[in-house]
Amino acid sequence: MTLHPHKIDSGLPPILRAATADLLTRHAPRLLDWVARHGSPLNLVWPDALEDNLAALKDVLTGHRVEHVIYYGAKVNKSPGLMQAALRAGAGLDVSSLYELRDARRLGADGARLVATGPAKTSEFHQELIACNALISVDSPEELEDLIEGLPADARPQPIFLRLRPRDQRKSRFGMPADAVVHCLTRLAGENRLRFAGLHFHVSGYRWETRVAALSEAADLVAEARRMGFSPRMIDIGGGLPVQYVDQASYEAHLAAQAPEDYRTGKKPDSFYPYGGPLSPADWLHRLLEAELRQGRSVADYLRREGLTLAMEPGRALADQAAITVFRISRVKALGPDSHVIFVEGSSFSACETWFASEFLVDPILVPATRPAAQSPPIRAYLAGHSCLDEDVLSNRWLRFPAAPNAGDLLVYANTGGYQMDLLENEFHRHPMPARLCVMKDAEGQPILVRDTIGEV
Ligand SMILES: *Cc1c(COP(=O)(O)O)cnc(C)c1O
Repeated sequence: MTLHPHKIDSGLPPILRAATADLLTRHAPRLLDWVARHGSPLNLVWPDALEDNLAALKDVLTGHRVEHVIYYGAKVNKSPGLMQAALRAGAGLDVSSLYELRDARRLGADGARLVATGPAKTSEFHQELIACNALISVDSPEELEDLIEGLPADARPQPIFLRLRPRDQRKSRFGMPADAVVHCLTRLAGENRLRFAGLHFHVSGYRWETRVAALSEAADLVAEARRMGFSPRMIDIGGGLPVQYVDQASYEAHLAAQAPEDYRTGKKPDSFYPYGGPLSPADWLHRLLEAELRQGRSVADYLRREGLTLAMEPGRALADQAAITVFRISRVKALGPDSHVIFVEGSSFSACETWFASEFLVDPILVPATRPAAQSPPIRAYLAGHSCLDEDVLSNRWLRFPAAPNAGDLLVYANTGGYQMDLLENEFHRHPMPARLCVMKDAEGQPILVRDTIGEV
């Protein structure tokens, strides 16, 4: 393969929050020291970013005078510090496993702050949810039967959502079609140990338009439920608010210019997350609330008039800018006259888009450990993990460096808090699990690390 000297080199620098930019520039020696102490990769978390993200969404909802409850979709990141930040800011938590539930409870969340989604809850998970009276989103008529069977005879009314599978999600295995929702309502009519709180959906993709369509179906079911004598109070629109990782113009230029030979595989991935989309999560929510639901009435208007609370479970959008992943380079190896592979220390499973046949279309930032001795020519390189697996690659995309990096330098992936940090982490080759620490400020305003564990955040 050869370089394309005439091609426009459209880079994809990440959007950075001031605290992150500061750490990578002014405090670079401190970052190098942290990696020396805690190893590579190192996951760094800023819980205060989650609070800022929540505040931005709440501003939009309050501005539209819409009653609301935001549950942080805790599965997006294993950090208890982020869960605790959500609780501190007055949000609830969406727990989708027994273990997320237990962590939430240990952080002091009572059941009223919790919702449980997830399609295949175990009976043990049901029991612990019932014990704290947390809201349960029921995924199917089958789950409803299991839940009823497990309810104690003297149970206090257990609040539930019924999860709708909107019409345009026919191939999804999550939720149930409208007629099954009505069937469940019939079943609920004779069961006073359960309280129907409202409709829930979570659809794939990142377009607000699909949520408006689903809301319209949910609105019909709210009306039907009221005719049947129920008093639903909420519609829950799930998550999927889009995050902006890179500037929109750079992203579009990059997509337009990229070619198969930009990848070491000789193949462009078929699909990418919309890394440089046009809308921030707050813009997206604003569009959704302003959109016409029916007969000239907006979504916000509908919710206000019907006295409904809008619930949502953003995961990625609340973890936006809340974490980075720092890799230390262990070797830079020439593969040809202008191509290199950069090996990083530790498992690459922490930055994992390549395992989904896609690519994290955000450039890593090089933090040099020492000044380069001699001026080297520009190189291109792909990034690989330390293991002996051919597919253990962080970036199949050829990355361009103005000069060859050196072993000991750091490569930092910014904004990894949303699914990019710990989804596939493991101890392959018995390499220890990556450390995860929270970045706080000391009395002088200098960044310091705090353990990201329950009870110590
Ligand atoms: C994963 C998930 C979410 C969060 O999705 P994001 O895209 O991270 O906002 C919300 N609700 C349900 C039911 C989920 O499974």
